[in-house]
Parts: sequence; structure tokens; C-alpha cells
Amino acid sequence: MAQSESLFNAAQQHIPGGVNSPVRAFKGVGGTPIFFDHAKGAHVFDVDGNRYIDYVGSWGPMILGHSAPEILDAVRERMEKGLSFGAPTGIETEMANEVCKLVPSMDMIRMTNSGTEATMSAIRLARGFTGRDKLVKFEGCYHGHADSLLVKAGSGALTLGVPTSPGVPASVAEHTITLEFNNLDSVRECFAQVGDQIAAIIVEPVAGNMNCIPPSKSFLQGLRELCDVHGTVLIFDEVMTGFRVAMGGAQAWYDITPDMTCLGKVIGGGLPVGAFGGKRAIMEHLAPLGPVYQAGTLSGNPLAMSAGLAMMKAIQKPGLYDQLNARVEQMLAGFQQAADKHGVAFTSNRAGSMFGLFFTELEQVSCFKDVAEQCDGERFNRFFHGMLEQGVYLAPSSFEAGFMSAAHSEQDINDTIAAAERVMATL
Ligand code: PMP
Repeated sequence: MAQSESLFNAAQQHIPGGVNSPVRAFKGVGGTPIFFDHAKGAHVFDVDGNRYIDYVGSWGPMILGHSAPEILDAVRERMEKGLSFGAPTGIETEMANEVCKLVPSMDMIRMTNSGTEATMSAIRLARGFTGRDKLVKFEGCYHGHADSLLVKAGSGALTLGVPTSPGVPASVAEHTITLEFNNLDSVRECFAQVGDQIAAIIVEPVAGNMNCIPPSKSFLQGLRELCDVHGTVLIFDEVMTGFRVAMGGAQAWYDITPDMTCLGKVIGGGLPVGAFGGKRAIMEHLAPLGPVYQAGTLSGNPLAMSAGLAMMKAIQKPGLYDQLNARVEQMLAGFQQAADKHGVAFTSNRAGSMFGLFFTELEQVSCFKDVAEQCDGERFNRFFHGMLEQGVYLAPSSFEAGFMSAAHSEQDINDTIAAAERVMATL
């Protein structure tokens, strides 16, 4: 790891913590972050020449695996025509048409450069549309780092122990009501008190930023009904789950129609893309049609759109999601067997090709408290480093989900299970 260490030392001179996004710094698991050189298919290669089977996939976008030829070709071809114009291009319409076709709840869509911009803008629009200020979110869910959403948040905020960040004015945070994921009673109670002041509920329909926690169907259904009764906008933050847990996202899988949807990760094919969209009546409040302002110098960037469009086409290949799901199931069954064999208390969650690993006596992990209070984070850290030594790269935090790609082969899965078996024996 000599090269990674020296690059990390150099990085810390001018980059806070040596990273451009906190969870990359290995603060949760300890040790030095690995600096990557290149990636192909299911494998990432570090600057010291080590190969790892990758289950981070750039935190979600790489559903086809790294450097997928159809994505690279599309970007290469498009690149020759110019990198950015700040003016409309036909490829943006193609992309909008494709996403709206695949996610029927979206009548209209606006592209952004990140998931954070998508959720931030969706909330502004929901507030502008309803004329209300309050927002409901769920503890341990992460919706990017906009002020109103960085309250009891998940992901890196949770890993670093600052779920509610300093720098978020109390006068902003006071409009965010945080409730427990999968606890419909708490939402009912809240709506009974202030339902007519709540602009939006924003929820990760499968929570993927406090590890991986699927919803109960009745939870999502209940949110839908409460929003209908109270005129509140239901926003599904599908930045992670969109085109990941199923073709049309978690909303297709659970058959619940939100009013608005946020997307990111997979839809950018690995380039910086986010998007938000939904019902026409809401989206028509957005500038320049309506008064709610939102914009972006590089939004709808032609390179990003070409990568995204190539991705949208590639994922429609028949059988892709079945293969992904089967691979994750096989891997998790192997992990469970290895844990049982070595007397390690362990369980896992899966939603499509997202998964969560938990070192716990619990049979079911279903909310933030379960993860924070009932799971052995230290044991996860030892597992993480053990797997790394065995050439398997998992998310460097017990609060993050893992991702399978279509490039993971039977051999990769078998190698991963064999590695887990060796590491479980040492826990
Ligand atoms: N929403 C969810 C559900 C996410 O998982 C993330 C990122 N992990 C975001 C929003 C923010 O996206 P970005 O990092 O692209 O700003």
C-alpha cells in the first residue's frame, strides 16, 4: 500500500482530509484509503498494482461494471462534438423521453449534476407548489448535503458521527421533522398534528445510507395515503434505488406511485448526473414555465447525457435484473453459511442488487436504531479489512449498502464467498 499511503499524505496538504467526499477517507473503518488507478468490469486496480473485486461500484452507478464498452463508446463518440454548450441539445430530450418511459410516474424531468441538487430542487419545488415549509424525512436516510436534509442524516454524516451538521442554521433545521423509518404510526401522529403544514415527505423507498434497509410495503403505502389526505407531495428519493433495485426503481418493485422522484447514480452511467421529476402539474411550477427557480451551467451536459442514454438502453437487456438478483442471493447465502459455520452472529438484507451486511443477533434489521444499537460495528470493521486483504473491496463503513454489477461472474462470487469464509474464521 506504499503508493496509496504516499498519495494520501500528499492529498491532505490541500484537500481537507485528503478526500473530496468524506466517507472515502476510511474514517469509519480506520486505516488508509486505497487510491485507485483503473477499473474494468467487476474489478478495481489500485496504484500499488493490487486487484479487488468491487462491491462499491462508485457507490451505485456501475450497474454494468466498470468501463462498460457501450458507455465508453457513447461518450467517446459524443466528445468529438464538443464538451458543453450551455444550450439545448437533442440528446437531453432523448434522455428525458427514455427516463419518463421507464418511470411512468414521471411526466416531466429536469436534469441536474448530482443527487444533492436533485433532492434540494425537488424540495424547493414541493414547497413552492404547496406554499408550505415543513418537510418530513426519516432518521438515517441520506438525501445529499443540502441544509434542510442534513438533519439526522445517513451515509458519511452518520459514519463521521455528525448526522446533523454544524453550519445548518437552526431556523432552517426547524422545518425538518425527522421520524423513524418503517414506523408508520409515528408518521400518522405527526400528520394528525401538523399535516396541513407539511409540504413534502422525502423518503428513500429502500434505505441505502444506513446500510440497506428495505421498507415494509405497508409503510410506503401508508405514506402515499397520508400524502393524499393532506395534500402533501410524496417524494421518492431514488438516487440510489432508481434502475438499481428494479427497472422502474423501488416504486415499480413496491407498486407505489410517488408524486415526485429524484434520480442519480445509475442514470449518469458514471458521469455526474442527477434528475428530478414527477407529475406535470407540479413540474410546471418550475422555471421557466413557473416561478420556482432552479438552474445549472452544466445541467444536461452532452457527455453526461450520452453516458446516461447508453446506460438506459443497456439496462433494458432482457434478464439483466434477474441475473443481478440471483448473484446477490448466491453471495449472501454463502456469507450466511460461512458465518453460521464459524459461530458469527450475522444477517443480511437485499433489495434487488443492493445489499446490507450486519453483524448482529437480530433476525431482521429494519430501522436506524437496529443498525446503530444492535449491530457490531467493530466486527464489521475487522471483516472489512480482512476482506480487503483478501482482494474484496466493500463499502468502507457499516452504514453503507453494497452493490452488485452485471460484470460480476460466477467466479467472482465464488472467490468472494471463499474470502468471506476465511475472514469469518478470524472474527
Ligand atoms: N440521495 C440518496 C438516496 C443518495 O444515496 C445520495 C448519494 N449517496 C444522494 C441523494 C446524494 O447524491 P450525490 O452524492 O450525487 O449528491
